[in-house]
Amino acid sequence: MTISNLQEVKSRITVFGQPMICRGCSHEVFIPYELYINVEKPGIGCLYAHDIAICQNCGEARHFSDPSDFDNEKGIFVWALRQYVC
Ligand SMILES: [Zn+2]
Repeated sequence: MTISNLQEVKSRITVFGQPMICRGCSHEVFIPYELYINVEKPGIGCLYAHDIAICQNCGEARHFSDPSDFDNEKGIFVWALRQYVC
């Protein structure tokens, strides 16, 4: 499963409804990028997906992960990330 499927465009991003805010300048407009890091462990041949978002005001890179998960109580998959294109 790929995470997030965020578009690489200027946008506001929320995590479980909470706006992502730049730690450097408190702006909320980012361009998200999805990176793949090869995890080099014996027996594990998978790529580890890693998200960063670049603040469009000050350029600070914010690392984040997608906390989307399966909710066993409700029996549904809960998507955490939402993207609002500016
Ligand atoms: Zn910033």
